[in-house]
Amino acid sequence: MPHQLTDPVQSLPGIGPARAKRLEKLGIRTAQDLLFWFPRQYEDRRECRSIREAPEDRPVCVRAIIATAPRLSYIRKGLELVKVNAVDEADAMELTFFNQSYLKTSLRPGESYLFYGKVERHGSRYTMTNPVLEPEAGARFTRRIMPVYPLTAGISNNLLAGAVLRILEDCAQQLTDPLPAALRREHALAEYAYAVQTVHFPPSWEELEIARRRLVFEELFFLSAGLAMLRRSRDWGRGVPCKSYDAEEYLHTLPFSLTGAQRRALDEAFADLCSGTPMNRLIQGDVGSGKTVVAAACAWLLAKNGFQSALMAPTEILAEQHYNTLAPLLARSGQRVGLLTGAMRAAEKRAVYADLADGSLDLVVGTHALLSEGVSFRRLGLVITDEQHRFGVAQRAALAAKGEGEARPHVLVMSATPIPRTLALLVYGDLEVSVIDERPPGRREVQTTLIGERKRPQLYGFIRKQVGEGHQVYLVCPAVEEGEVPAAAGPERKAAAPYAEVLQKHVFPDLRVGLVHGKLKSREKETVMADFGRGEIDILVATTVIEVGVDVPNATLMVVENAECFGLSQLHQLRGRVGRGESQSYCVLVSSAQSPETRQRLRVLCESSDGFHIAEEDLRLRGPGDFFGNRQHGLPPLKVADLAADTRVLHEAREAAAALLEEDPELTALEHRGIRARVEQMFQDSRDTMN
Ligand code: ADP
Ligand code: MG
Repeated sequence: MPHQLTDPVQSLPGIGPARAKRLEKLGIRTAQDLLFWFPRQYEDRRECRSIREAPEDRPVCVRAIIATAPRLSYIRKGLELVKVNAVDEADAMELTFFNQSYLKTSLRPGESYLFYGKVERHGSRYTMTNPVLEPEAGARFTRRIMPVYPLTAGISNNLLAGAVLRILEDCAQQLTDPLPAALRREHALAEYAYAVQTVHFPPSWEELEIARRRLVFEELFFLSAGLAMLRRSRDWGRGVPCKSYDAEEYLHTLPFSLTGAQRRALDEAFADLCSGTPMNRLIQGDVGSGKTVVAAACAWLLAKNGFQSALMAPTEILAEQHYNTLAPLLARSGQRVGLLTGAMRAAEKRAVYADLADGSLDLVVGTHALLSEGVSFRRLGLVITDEQHRFGVAQRAALAAKGEGEARPHVLVMSATPIPRTLALLVYGDLEVSVIDERPPGRREVQTTLIGERKRPQLYGFIRKQVGEGHQVYLVCPAVEEGEVPAAAGPERKAAAPYAEVLQKHVFPDLRVGLVHGKLKSREKETVMADFGRGEIDILVATTVIEVGVDVPNATLMVVENAECFGLSQLHQLRGRVGRGESQSYCVLVSSAQSPETRQRLRVLCESSDGFHIAEEDLRLRGPGDFFGNRQHGLPPLKVADLAADTRVLHEAREAAAALLEEDPELTALEHRGIRARVEQMFQDSRDTMN
């Protein structure tokens, strides 16, 4: 009986209940699942030579006949040797196998085999050690490009390859192409059955590339289509209705004019706000690119329409900072801004509650405290959150739910994490994206250098000089205590707490050294940050807790110890803490890492101040998994596509998916059923985690 795609893997040769269990751990239950278990690399076993002509420097296939009975010997406990002689037309060789005693009985003298391995020459003798082998009749795993699969204990590569071959033989006809022929023609995509077959057993590297492109395309196509459908399904209901007002009225109250990028973001957001459907927009831009000013414009427009806005920030410091920027901006238009944080006194909070409930506040800036029960708005129309990845969708939604009536509040998200455009489109699946990729004029670039341990005396001299000129310094370490520093940091690891002590006692006894890290209570953190903000600390030793948001324009030097422990994007964020005032600012990356890759990575930062470029490089050098760190980005896992490398195909697939959905929004047409099924399959496991 030929196999069906839906057959359980147990029906395949060599797979019993025990192995089926192990495969199930990999998510492989049916024959079809196995077909989607793609090789992670390949071994080129195509070259075939005679014993005499086999090169010594690389493995090749050699065809030879077993000439003697295999001899089994026990060298010592745990080491068994099988030796056997084999001959081709001209020469003989001796084969040695370690710990494969079954070969003693399975190798048949007189029969022709293919051996894949390196032939060694000892004078006129030839030998091979532990070659891959199989009988020439019915050979499957030699003389071809062999797939190498991701494995698990108890499952060998040959077992998987054999099972896949069998399925391909039996089921190739059953592989119906989910992509319509017209779409394949338009994007020059190979047929489905061919692509699947070829990606497992490619006849050549060229064909592998063709097959792979097809599978990458379809995967990204299904992903894009699914995200688009998801986004659309969320856009239910009416948005808070807004009438358009001329933005100039707000803009002329500002002491500067907007950059082109800010203006674009503002126009896009205003169009959303006045469209009748709820806005769901992400504004992405480097620190200091002027996102807050744009968010303020949105709050302004809402207030003009008689609605209130709420801005939620991840920490009290940030909330206060936003409050301090926004209150004067909006005061110029006669609008009122309030602050609400958990640290405030109960009486102060009650006053804010009252002002929100009766509508006398137009905008409230706060922390999670905004979500507390006491908070109710008279007419909430816009929810703004800062730093996307610190708030889940649930929190955004909880705040938005404080709006009333059938109209849904608009949502604006600000993020200073410059995710490459391609990834942002995917990760923020349910958000439209505006990018502010231009800096306000007159900003000086932060001068960045990479130094090794030898220059430490000069570094300390430079710190002293900056402080001598009345400036302040950040000094960031990868960990708080000794022993927490990543092993990658090497011998010169720095931990914030002991380092701060050493600096204060032995290096800068006359200066004021402060310490802040994530293990402090948030109250203590805020106190230290406030001291630094008031200039009462000269050198602030810190962990990455200062990564987000803090604004101290008098700080002009950022030193990062063990810079190799940080991602590029993270370093860029840290660097953004300086260069916020009038004076020239500096960033010094200290690293004694020697590897060329690490040094190349860190040099990207010395050469560029463009957050997006840096993010792209980070993505290219480390891959998307690392880019997002441990953070769940909520996308369905991809089997073939590599978001870092396949961006060209991603763009093409996205556009194709958008065009298709334009024509058939629910994918109900007969020829689109296959696509719909695959999209549903892809998203079934990640429905809950999606953005
Ligand atoms: P972000 O929120 O992106 O970090 P902000 O909106 O807080 O940036 O702006 C950073 C600083 O730059 C603020 O002091 C702001 O007043 C100022 N600023 C914003 N836009 C401009 C501009 N177009 N020209 C000059 N200064 C600007
Ligand atoms: Mg800001």
